[in-house]
Amino acid sequence: MKRILITGGAGFIGSHLSERLLNEGNEVICLDNFFTGSKNNIRHLIGNNHFELVRHDITKEYYAEVDQIYNLACPASPPHYQYNAIKTIKTSILGMINMLGLAKRCKATVLQASTSEVYGDPKIHPQTEDYWGNVNPIGIRSCYDEGKRCAETLAMDYYRQNKVDIRIIRIFNTYGPNMDPNDGRVVSNFIVQALQNQDITIYGDGTQTRSFCYVDDLVDGMIKMMNNKSGFIGPVNLGNPSERTILEFAKLIIKLTNSNSKIIHKPLPGDDPVRRKPDITLAKKELGWEPKVDIEKGLLKTIEYFEKKIRDEK
Ligand code: NAD
Ligand code: UDP
Repeated sequence: MKRILITGGAGFIGSHLSERLLNEGNEVICLDNFFTGSKNNIRHLIGNNHFELVRHDITKEYYAEVDQIYNLACPASPPHYQYNAIKTIKTSILGMINMLGLAKRCKATVLQASTSEVYGDPKIHPQTEDYWGNVNPIGIRSCYDEGKRCAETLAMDYYRQNKVDIRIIRIFNTYGPNMDPNDGRVVSNFIVQALQNQDITIYGDGTQTRSFCYVDDLVDGMIKMMNNKSGFIGPVNLGNPSERTILEFAKLIIKLTNSNSKIIHKPLPGDDPVRRKPDITLAKKELGWEPKVDIEKGLLKTIEYFEKKIRDEK
């Protein structure tokens, strides 16, 4: 049995990871300040003897004895990370320093949840890990992008200088149950709008692309990366390479929800990346990982979750 700390454990991805690691027989400390996460996501785990919920902000030091740290704490949706941009960058940088310090003291392995946003608005397609990116350092997404880039730098420097055992994964757009209906990301927005027959809001003309990965696939990849003992520390892309335009995605959601919603267009936010698709050759080679869940199946499970959420809130 390992003792595992998950920062941001009450969030969308963190809650799935908490459940998986508990089911695999580990002890889990779920740390969260509940900025975007919710107790509802992990309520069913409270009471399990091997599960501990801690309200804490990772910009402050945290002490515990652990074997592994999954560092997920950071708001992930553009409206949420832009809401308090200074806090977002502090969370990525001070939080990473605190987690690397903790890992150094405990000799724990720390996995940083980095992002495809480190590639910015990419000039190469699909994105490979050796691409350094095209990031605006002073724009409205910079608090997130540059914070995550600096967190990768910190992880590499602690690895080189202090021999801390690190892993870096770059997560591409992920979806599934436990997403916050109000977090403003495209998957939650479109499904919630479609289920209520409201207009589907496409930002810009909808020709921008994204590649969506179901959360169970991502969690498999995260655990494989954490536990690999080959010396491979990443960074590694984790995502589903099946790319589609946002307009195609809106039509798919309308079809799967059997909705009467109309598509409308709203202004495109600043620095919105034009194309995004992971090259996952490295993950296949080093981890034997690739996503398995078909988009329609994954979306139907997600739609079912949002249907229940909307019913419960009425
Ligand atoms: P989320 O917003 O649902 O989860 C983030 C969690 O971190 C929340 O529970 C929030 O309350 C917590 N948190 C935020 N600031 C904190 C702080 N200072 N101290 C303690 N807890 C704090 O987002 P998510 O989609 O689950 O993303 C999890 C991680 O994965 C994030 O680091 C995100 O950047 C990364 N990621 C996610 C995606 C995706 O598509 N979902 C893509 C790329 C990277
Ligand atoms: N988007 C959209 N309508 C929405 C929400 C998002 O058209 O209601 C677009 C957004 O402009 C971006 C894409 O969908 O091009 C993905 O947005 P999201 O916020 O989910 O994540 P991103 O990949 O941009 O971080």
